[in-house]
Amino acid sequence: MRVDYLIVGQGLAGTTLALELSAAGKEVLVVDDPATRESAASRVAAGIVNPVTGKRLARSWKVEVLLPAAREFYRAWERRYGRRVFHTLPLLRFLTPEQERRYWPRRVSSGELDDYVREVDTGAVDRKSGIRTDGKAVEFAPAGYLDTRTFLDTSAAGLGAAGCLRRERFVFDELRADPGRVTWRDVRATKIIFCEGWRAAANPFFDWLPYTPSKGEILTLRVPGMPGGRILNRGKWVLPTGGERVRVGATYGWTGLGGPPTAEGGKELLDAFSSLVTLPGQLIDHRAGVRPAVKDTKPVIGLHPGNETVGIFNGFGSKGVMMAPHFARRFVAYLEQGVPLDDEVDVRRNL
Ligand SMILES: Cc1cc2nc3c(=O)[nH]c(=O)nc-3n(C[C@H](O)[C@H](O)[C@H](O)COP(=O)(O)OP(=O)(O)OC[C@H]3O[C@@H](n4cnc5c(N)ncnc54)[C@H](O)[C@@H]3O)c2cc1C
Repeated sequence: MRVDYLIVGQGLAGTTLALELSAAGKEVLVVDDPATRESAASRVAAGIVNPVTGKRLARSWKVEVLLPAAREFYRAWERRYGRRVFHTLPLLRFLTPEQERRYWPRRVSSGELDDYVREVDTGAVDRKSGIRTDGKAVEFAPAGYLDTRTFLDTSAAGLGAAGCLRRERFVFDELRADPGRVTWRDVRATKIIFCEGWRAAANPFFDWLPYTPSKGEILTLRVPGMPGGRILNRGKWVLPTGGERVRVGATYGWTGLGGPPTAEGGKELLDAFSSLVTLPGQLIDHRAGVRPAVKDTKPVIGLHPGNETVGIFNGFGSKGVMMAPHFARRFVAYLEQGVPLDDEVDVRRNL
């Protein structure tokens, strides 16, 4: 089999890249390991996009470019596959006293959040709705979430039907990456692009990157009477996804990577849920995944400095949904037309 690009990994990174390469007329083959697929960050994630992030209420990096690009990409995907996956919902954030005192006045006076925020009279949030309204609240929009599983499964079905997906583990011993040509089993490709998420740390071509992966846990609850229409956030977030289902996340940890969810993580999330919602919830699911990141928290994109047949598309941290579409397009422009990558995402900045 001959293809232009062999892609390792069918998470958000590998999927968006495969779709962008195909749209550019390139032949791709995606390989994804069935043993690691289910616990991949992309399948665990709630898929939230939020223009304002972190304790300091900072405007999310490049949000003015990334968010419109993501929305355009997922809307085009929805038209092509006839499924709804990208849902816009405002995010209601309750500020801590410290945030209200220290950070909020700065953000208001700088005007940097003007396009994304509106102050909310918490008295107007119906106190009978089950939402705890104590504290100052601000509403961020546009925000929302991607139904990542439907996006990945439907994309996989499309790639599979076209003969462009194999559910197999990629093993490095079976790879030959000569200048201008890659050989893996029966496959010949012009380039191989690694999109393995946090497992890239074991990739012999890219083991020199300063990886900082973090484990995240997330719950799914059944909450009868849960009001929809908004994502709630008070440090952690509560996302109603319809049909009484509510996702609660997420924890951050730096140990037990690749391991199962923990009792402590579950308790932390149930406490967070109770700090936002007064209604009782029944636990349906508890999962853990690992966010792929490097030290400066920016993506790592580009070709290997010593072997240009080998590339990487990774490092999307906790924002894969918003970042992957824009950077997949930029990477394809770089690969196919030589349009330079931004220095701040180019893998070579880490040399
Ligand atoms: C709890 C949690 C909550 C999150 N919430 C959000 C959120 O709300 N919004 C958001 O934008 N992001 C969120 N994220 C982050 C998001 O999940 C990541 O940014 C994104 O999924 C990374 O995608 P990826 O494709 O790079 O990696 P992954 O999703 O890890 O995919 C890597 C793929 O590579 C495959 N693979 C690896 N090695 C091999 C091999 N040797 N052979 C074959 N296949 C291989 C794996 O099977 C996997 O399918 C969250 C993450 C976690 C853990």
